Amino acid sequence: MKLDQFPEDLRDHLLPSPTGGLGYHCLKCGLVHPPTELYYTCPACGGLLLLEDDQADRLKARPGHFWRRLFDYRRMLNIQPLSGIFAYHEFLAPLIPLEDIIYLGEGHTPVVAAPAALAREVGRPLFIKHDGQNPSASFKDRGMAAALSYLRYLIRSRHLTGVLAICASTGDTSAAAALYSAALGDQVKSAVLLPKGKVTLPQLSQPLGAGARVFELPGVFDDCMKVVEYLSENFQVALLNSKNPWRVLGQESYAFELAQQFDYDLAGLALLVPVGNAGNLTAILSGLLKLRRYEVIDQLPKVVAVQSSHADPVFRYYNQPAGPGRRYQPVTVRPSVAQAAMIGDPVSFPRVVKMVEAYNAAAGRELFFVVQVEEQAIMDNMIRANRSGLTICTQGGEGLAGLGEAIRLGLVGPEERAVVDSTAHALKFAEFQNRYFENQLQEGFDITARPELVNRPADIRPLGVPLPEPGRTQSPEDRAAYVAAAADDLALALGLRKRG
Ligand SMILES: *Cc1c(COP(=O)(O)O)cnc(C)c1O
Ligand SMILES: [Zn+2]
Repeated sequence: MKLDQFPEDLRDHLLPSPTGGLGYHCLKCGLVHPPTELYYTCPACGGLLLLEDDQADRLKARPGHFWRRLFDYRRMLNIQPLSGIFAYHEFLAPLIPLEDIIYLGEGHTPVVAAPAALAREVGRPLFIKHDGQNPSASFKDRGMAAALSYLRYLIRSRHLTGVLAICASTGDTSAAAALYSAALGDQVKSAVLLPKGKVTLPQLSQPLGAGARVFELPGVFDDCMKVVEYLSENFQVALLNSKNPWRVLGQESYAFELAQQFDYDLAGLALLVPVGNAGNLTAILSGLLKLRRYEVIDQLPKVVAVQSSHADPVFRYYNQPAGPGRRYQPVTVRPSVAQAAMIGDPVSFPRVVKMVEAYNAAAGRELFFVVQVEEQAIMDNMIRANRSGLTICTQGGEGLAGLGEAIRLGLVGPEERAVVDSTAHALKFAEFQNRYFENQLQEGFDITARPELVNRPADIRPLGVPLPEPGRTQSPEDRAAYVAAAADDLALALGLRKRG
């Protein structure tokens, strides 16, 4: 819709004007640093940072219905920078001018109600938010859109040159980082560090295709992360891992969209979130808290974090009795089909602790839970969803398995509706499906293929007729003989009856 066709009282608000207020808040020493530089850790004490709006009173000055109406109308505005996550500009990164915003089609991913059979099996209404339907096929694009837009703003306003963006990745961060850096052309070069053999082929092809320098290192993600942290502390690079608080800001958009997609009524909803480095969990909790703070929603939903038993430090922490005796301990990961979340020492863990405290306090009761699932359940649930007409990734399977576990534990009641975050596109993880069907996931993953879920292609190769060969033209007679014989074999295999 054209600007002059919107209700008059909204026209002045549809195009946001940049405002200050955002500051880096250190979780360790409490200092606040201005957003005039890209920090990943507190320059005073090395603590982890979160970006907070110190002029939030201007947002509070408006009632919740003002924001709901503005965000709903903005969805009809066809202006590129506001078409994605920056539709929520005021709540997200209000200091970034529209001219610096990069939009590659991220955000506003569909929420799909599970077909009846699956909902019946789960015993309650179930929705999938398909975050694999982002440009690089994972939710990481949300964070990269924010981080690279901020970087572009810095480059322009500070006349920076020769910026090298760098990240460690379980596969999807590097795909997103490479893509969004490529969109900035010569302004930013990107380099990505991958644990060798620990990302899938499509994930490896993504940063290569986008022209990033790709480096494969021995070890797992946690090892690559340490190298990239060392690099960012000792060399001039722009770190794009979720240690970078701009990533977290961008990923808050998941919460804003979800609220909008449920008409701002999140009561009685349980959100299932797979957790690796815990940047996404931090962002979703933070986004939901903002919505509540500015009265865009009345009630916070339940949030259930999900981890595989092969990579479960967050579960282990919250599984201890609450109180000062709780200890955080990194774990050594074992192979996981939810490979994008296969992280033993999540960088954002201190953020999670802070957010969970704030979340439960704002809700006035315990509304955050963590469950642990087995690798077997992850694969079984992914395929089960697929058999109901939904495509979810292995991390989505982890979320769905987590729902089953949360129901079993009584954490999600029969009257509650569930939303599973399918964080990536299923096709990125097709090789795990193949290995499951070939029953090649027993070693390391402890997964045995369920015969009723296995599906393999069958060869049709009729005997006694000339077969087509690539590049060679068959005679009409040979072709007719082959077609009839192949069709007969197929009819036999499918148990077809001859026409009357
Ligand atoms: C990165 C990633 C995760 C884990 O998110 P964190 O923010 O690291 O906890 C889960 N699923 C997919 C597909 C991912 O790419
Ligand atoms: Zn500090």
